[in-house]
Amino acid sequence: MKPRKVPLRKCVACQEMMPKKELIRVVKTPDDQIMIDLSGKKSGRGAYLCGKRSCFKLAKKNKSLDRALKAAVSASIYDALEQDFIRVEDEFIALKDTVDDDEE
Ligand SMILES: [Zn+2]
Repeated sequence: MKPRKVPLRKCVACQEMMPKKELIRVVKTPDDQIMIDLSGKKSGRGAYLCGKRSCFKLAKKNKSLDRALKAAVSASIYDALEQDFIRVEDEFIALKDTVDDDEE
């Protein structure tokens, strides 16, 4: 039995490598909408953040999402994402315990 491989992703704010399910995905969709993707399955360019508000604030301060998504993310988008982030935080924490590792 070999141990199950846990997919790791890097948080764009603190640069830490974390198991994918510990991270919240932000996606830029093909029609240039930037949103939080709790399912992790939306198509587009993704960026990962720890499920912590402090990391979101860091990303906002450093414009980490701009770099990760290769797009200009305006302050109002950061603000909107931050609201979403706060809203999904609880759901995300609840999901973490139930979600199985997906393919990959
Ligand atoms: Zn982080």
